[in-house]
Amino acid sequence: PARDQVHNFAAGPSPLPTTVLEEAARGLLNYDDTGMGICELSHRGKEFKAVIEGAEANLRSLLSIPDNYTILFNQGGGTGQFSAVVLNLLAAHRLSHPVPAEEFIPPTIDYVLTGAWSSKAYAEAQRLCLPPFPACPAFATPRVAASTKSTKWTTLPKKDEYDFSKEAAFVYYCENETINGIEFPPASASGSSPFAFPFDQVPKGVNIVADYSSSFISRPIPNIEKHAIIYAGAQKNLGPSGVTVLIVRNDLLVDTTEAAKLGCVPSTPITYEYKILADNGSLYNTPPTFPIYVSALVLQHLIDNKGGLRGLEETNKAKAELLYATLDEAEKQGKARCVVKEKDARSWMNVTFEMLGEGKEKAFLEGADKHGFRQLKGHRSVGGVRASLYNAVTLESVRALCEYIKSF
Ligand code: PLP
Repeated sequence: PARDQVHNFAAGPSPLPTTVLEEAARGLLNYDDTGMGICELSHRGKEFKAVIEGAEANLRSLLSIPDNYTILFNQGGGTGQFSAVVLNLLAAHRLSHPVPAEEFIPPTIDYVLTGAWSSKAYAEAQRLCLPPFPACPAFATPRVAASTKSTKWTTLPKKDEYDFSKEAAFVYYCENETINGIEFPPASASGSSPFAFPFDQVPKGVNIVADYSSSFISRPIPNIEKHAIIYAGAQKNLGPSGVTVLIVRNDLLVDTTEAAKLGCVPSTPITYEYKILADNGSLYNTPPTFPIYVSALVLQHLIDNKGGLRGLEETNKAKAELLYATLDEAEKQGKARCVVKEKDARSWMNVTFEMLGEGKEKAFLEGADKHGFRQLKGHRSVGGVRASLYNAVTLESVRALCEYIKSF
């Protein structure tokens, strides 16, 4: 089928705006009339420099990123950042406690576990913090500050269910759990929601890190300054996989080698040191030029056509509300079941549900495919159905899916 004959509900990599891809296709062959494609140009040449600097400036303006934060482009995906945040922030913590190694007390790292991705990040911290030798203390002690595992990741912790440690080097949470369909309520609604992330309960001075991989640029982030680091893999709303965007508070751009010399912290691989990336405008080594190029085009497209993030927020909210309302209605009729019951914990980006009855899910997915609805199968670890409603999915596509659910 042609591109406009399918509705792509993929969880990531996910659909991108058609006009952007058309422009990218032209740029891949002949960028800006140079006679050369964007992937054939030096990453240090003036053309690519303009691309990456333009992307950065547009991102800063779209998200209103404060001046004391640096934007970085890294490789290694969201998973790479599970490691990189631990290494860079333990180094920053060590440098702010410059006592001799014998006197150094390893910090904790507080993880908020709300689904598969925050759990993976926690597991990586545990792996990285193992003692270098059996007789040594661990580099740090990752601990669980809150967890909804007992609910099979179907809700968020309430305010009184968090237990943060004063000794934490940082607190970590995942803003949107892509597999389970769990998302913290938008900051605009946070005051009234029992599921809002409890920034005010985090001990003063403890850094907060958020994985925004699957909700980045789906709506404004009005509380950037409450975070030390926000990061996101590109392949949901921003561009093709291969680039990861970071927003890092400037005091955390530290020389990790200096920290390692003090002892008691693991060394940081050079391509993951935020300071080195920052000092080199994200061009310390060859960056993923094509994903950065397409991301730059997507950002320009949002600025030109979508009314910025406020406009997107309205559309994304409308899309999610429509689908959840349809599913809640189907649930009353005994046909379907939404995985996440609490409205304030429901993801706008990844809507997870089950079709009830013997053989119904298979029939639903087969029928969906015939109607042009693609990539609706739930993640292989949880099964069920998942409709991902990233920025490039239109309200019309969601309406069409809702009609199919009603008729099924
Ligand atoms: N964090 C979240 C919320 C994700 O959805 C994903 C991937 O889908 C990751 C992290 C891992 O990202 P990557 O596959 O780019 O390593």
